[in-house]
Amino acid sequence: MLELCEFLKNSYTCYHAVENAAAMLERAGFARLKEQEPWNLKAGGAYYVTRGGSIVAFRYAPTGPFAIVASHTDSPCFKLKENAALCDGTFTRLNAEGYGGGLWYTFFDRPLALAGRVVRGVGDRLVAETYVSASRFVLPSLAIHQNREANEKLSVNLQTELALAGLGEVSIADMVGPFIAYDLFLTPAEEPFFGGANGEFLTSPRLDDLAGAYASLHALIGAESTAHTLVAACFEAEEIGSSTQGGAGSDLLRGVLSRIADAQGKTREEELTALASSLLVSLDNAHSLHPDHPEKCDPTNRAVMGGGVVIKAHAGGAYTTDGMTAAIVKKVLTDAGVKVQPFYNRSDVRSGSTLGAISMRQVSIPSVDIGIAQLAMHSAAETMAWKDFAELEKALATLFKARITFDGNSVTIA
Ligand SMILES: [Zn+2]
Repeated sequence: MLELCEFLKNSYTCYHAVENAAAMLERAGFARLKEQEPWNLKAGGAYYVTRGGSIVAFRYAPTGPFAIVASHTDSPCFKLKENAALCDGTFTRLNAEGYGGGLWYTFFDRPLALAGRVVRGVGDRLVAETYVSASRFVLPSLAIHQNREANEKLSVNLQTELALAGLGEVSIADMVGPFIAYDLFLTPAEEPFFGGANGEFLTSPRLDDLAGAYASLHALIGAESTAHTLVAACFEAEEIGSSTQGGAGSDLLRGVLSRIADAQGKTREEELTALASSLLVSLDNAHSLHPDHPEKCDPTNRAVMGGGVVIKAHAGGAYTTDGMTAAIVKKVLTDAGVKVQPFYNRSDVRSGSTLGAISMRQVSIPSVDIGIAQLAMHSAAETMAWKDFAELEKALATLFKARITFDGNSVTIA
């Protein structure tokens, strides 16, 4: 749990999540691969490759299908524009855009870090470095005396309400050093903490979806080599539609799987056969029953914190789960003693979606959407029950171990 808290705290942006994930994988003996170089995969080897704010790690088996867990590395925050320092003579503020669908009022009056990736010129090279400021910044609320309706009407204007960078004139280069360009964000910099009478809750920035990304990497590190290749894919840009070069809509995962198939010496037909026998677990958090707002939940399929791993389904295909993949996961997990619970949105509420459905456009294999139930999704501080995280870790370890064979309308699980 402490390692999870460190990961949540220090993974300010997708770039930091990738850096921290890579360090964790290297400590466990995974070797780094580069997309720009040939790969020389060895049976039983463990590897990872990164693209921007995405990382794909795998345990290579020389034959067989794939077991894949996909999650995301980004969370809602503010992204700085170029010429971001806006000085009115008294204060400098940071001109930024909303990144993703944040619950913006929760970002006020909290410590925010300036963090991301800075591209510097070093001789004739351009070098991208991850960056996090030692300073903290604040987005100040208007006092209740100057906004008497604040408790009835909360509205946030992202162009006029900006974080304070300092008194007088401050430049971005003053803060981050010389740069040519950057991907910089203002992100919550609070410590995760355990709450509840018995410490049963964990509240932290970025639980969605770093809890999932961490769980998938941890399960992969802890897994033994099996007859199939195990993959943990953590993607950037889920909060903004997944269509970046490294997002779930890109060819990153497909490319990794193809290179693995090439290393295995598979023919095209054998590669397609392996894909048809693989499983993709799309892992992202779900809304828990909110005790103050039970009316927001589906009447018969409400996920509750503490109730175990959530299996999400949606008639409109926002989630990838179907009857067969739900049955596979239910059987594998309940046989292993993992608690599962279903989640549907209310039929009169627009569903959120996950990267699973987007990934299906590139890698179309049997898939299921699972996650853990949490409160305050997209707030600067989200809450989950830590025992659900323990169930999720058990679930992923079990799914990585399971040998699932697809044969037309039937599936055999060993
Ligand atoms: Zn998410």
